[in-house]
This record gives sequence, structure tokens and C-alpha cells, in this order.
Amino acid sequence: MIKKPFKDIELSMLGLGNMRFHTSDPKGESIIDKDAFEVIDYAYKNGINYFDTAHVYNNGDSERCVGECMSKYDRNTFYVATKFNINACKDYKKMFDDQLSRLKTDHIDFYLVHCILDGNIDEYLSSGLVDFLEEKRTEGKIRYLGFSSHASTATLERFADSHQFDFAQIQLNYYDWVYGNSKSEYEALRKRNIPIMVMEPVRGGRLSSLTPDSEAILKKAHPEWSISSWALRFVKSLPGVQVVLSGMNNLEQIKDNIETFSTDDVLSKEDEATLMQALELFKKQLTIPCTGCRYCTKTCPVQINIPEYLTVLNDVKANGNFNLWKADKVESEGKPADCIGCRSCTAQCPQSLNIPFYMEELANKMKK
Ligand code: SF4
Ligand code: SF4
Repeated sequence: MIKKPFKDIELSMLGLGNMRFHTSDPKGESIIDKDAFEVIDYAYKNGINYFDTAHVYNNGDSERCVGECMSKYDRNTFYVATKFNINACKDYKKMFDDQLSRLKTDHIDFYLVHCILDGNIDEYLSSGLVDFLEEKRTEGKIRYLGFSSHASTATLERFADSHQFDFAQIQLNYYDWVYGNSKSEYEALRKRNIPIMVMEPVRGGRLSSLTPDSEAILKKAHPEWSISSWALRFVKSLPGVQVVLSGMNNLEQIKDNIETFSTDDVLSKEDEATLMQALELFKKQLTIPCTGCRYCTKTCPVQINIPEYLTVLNDVKANGNFNLWKADKVESEGKPADCIGCRSCTAQCPQSLNIPFYMEELANKMKK
């Protein structure tokens, strides 16, 4: 496992994110599966020493699980990161004590102000939370203080400049590097010399499987590399990246990721070009190229608002099924499931789109 120096300690470059554990609920209580303990133990025994959790993950059970599992190991051999989220709780003083108790520890190694957004930065800054956390850092109850952000780059910069932070956590992956905010956030933190903890390096699993054609490009270049490992290799190659968090919830995944972080090789210029070529094709094949001209809507016998539904489907394909709620907000007489496959729309479409196929695809997703 690659280790990188961080101030006076060394951190494994791969960290275990403890957000995506499966839970079972036999008695109405949230219980994390035994598999979670197996994954944490495997991670620790194979060189991972950074364990990330938060009080909002599994309603506190993620912290409890990390605390329970890690309590059998020497406290000086691993580092725990947890967070405070003002949207879920206002009483940060009580929460801090609860977290120490759940994590079975007398100090937190890495403490983050959780999920800075454009809409909550003012509340965070006026709440007194960061001053309180700075006191805890002075007392030694917190070793390093940081924040995680899902905000615009301008908001991230404002928060980064508001106090003395030791590190920051951002969503960083090759897809968002090109099509999202990752690059500008990364550059803002690099400019300030703030070490970067990476979350969502595989974009919640979306970059684990691409379209067959884009996967073929990657497989041709390196048949032995998994598709996910390309995403991890991309972030691993960026200077200033300290820890890459991966929410591994089975042993197969964790073994593959540990293999990726077993050497400090970085992507070559050719590999980067290959990855960008695969990404471009993935994006093209993923996106339905509807221009919104609305010619198709004029002849649809069941009055489906086709371009609006295609926009939702593009969003779902790129960003995940949780965006399906947007389909219910589309103003439309007919729904995707009402499509009768008459194809009068396709005859009108200048882009020759297979509209009934997409309506069926969206209708099936909405059913699940
Ligand atoms: S195929 Fe479906 S979407 Fe297209 S016109 Fe017919 S009913 Fe409407
Ligand atoms: S005709 Fe084709 S391109 Fe135009 S809005 Fe309909 S689906 Fe989109």
C-alpha cells in the first residue's frame, strides 16, 4: 500500500469510505451487515490506515461500526475521520461527545465540517462551529481540521479562506474533471497548498462500467486493468491528492482497489489520452443528442412531452437513478409508459432518434 507523508504522520493513499455499507433491519433497527466488519478488518490488515465516516452515515451506525471494529487494534496504528453536518443536527457540542463515544476513542484524527453547500455556508460560518472545532484542535481532541464541499468553487474558496484548515475533501473523478467542477476545485485547493482527500473517485460506481465501445478502448490499452481502476489511477496521478476514499463494501472490490494502490505508478501521457478518448465516446453514447426542437411532439397521439423526458433520461444515465424524481415533475399529458410505439415522432425527428425505445427505457426505470 502506498503511504504518503501528511504533516507528522503517514497516510495510506487508499482510504476506506464507510458510507455504503449494507444495512439490515430485522427489528426495526438499522444494523450494519457483518460483511462491513470483514471489509474493515481486511482493509486494516492490508495497509489501509485512513477510515472515513460521519454521523449521518447509517444514522450513526457507521461510526458505531468503525468504533466497534477498530477498538481491537492499537489506536496509534490507524486514523479516523468523521464529520459534523449542520443540516442534520445543530448541537455540535453534544454531537462531538456522542461521536467520541460511538467511535470508542478520546480523540478524532481528522474532523470535517461536512458538505459545504452554497446554501449552508452562511449558517456554518455564523454557527460558531469552526471556532469550537479549532478549540478542540488546540486541546488535542481533534488532530487535523478540514471540510468537505459540494458547493461551487467560489463558495469552496470562501470557506477555505475563512479559517486555518489542514485538509479538504472534494468530489474528484475524470468525468467531473472534464464535465463538472472537479478541476477548478482541485486548482483552488492546490493554490492554497491544502492537501486533498478525494471522494467519489468512481462517481458512486458510475465509472465502474462504461459503454461497451468505451470499455473496449480501455481494455485494449491495458487488458489487466479493471474499468474502476482507471478512475482510481486518474486521481492517484494528481499531485496534492493525499487520500483517495473508496466506499468498498465487498472483498472483491477492496482487493482490486488495494492492488491499484500497491505501487505509486501514475498514468502515462498515452494512458491519459486513452482515458480521455474513452470518456468522450462514453459521454457521446450516454447522451441522447436531442436538440429540443419539439418537432416530435406535434404528432404524438398521446401527447408525451418527449424532449423533457429525454432530458431527464440523460440526467439519469449520467448521474444515477436518484434523479428519476425529475420525471414526475415533467409537465406532460402522456407519460413515457403511455407510448404506443407508433413511431410518428421518429419520422419527424431531425436527429433520427429512436424515441419509442427511449420512452420504454425511461418507463422501465420509473417502474422500479
Ligand atoms: S412512438 Fe410513442 S412517443 Fe412517439 S409518437 Fe408514438 S406514442 Fe408518441
Ligand atoms: S424531434 Fe428529435 S431532436 Fe427534436 S425534440 Fe423531438 S426528440 Fe428532440
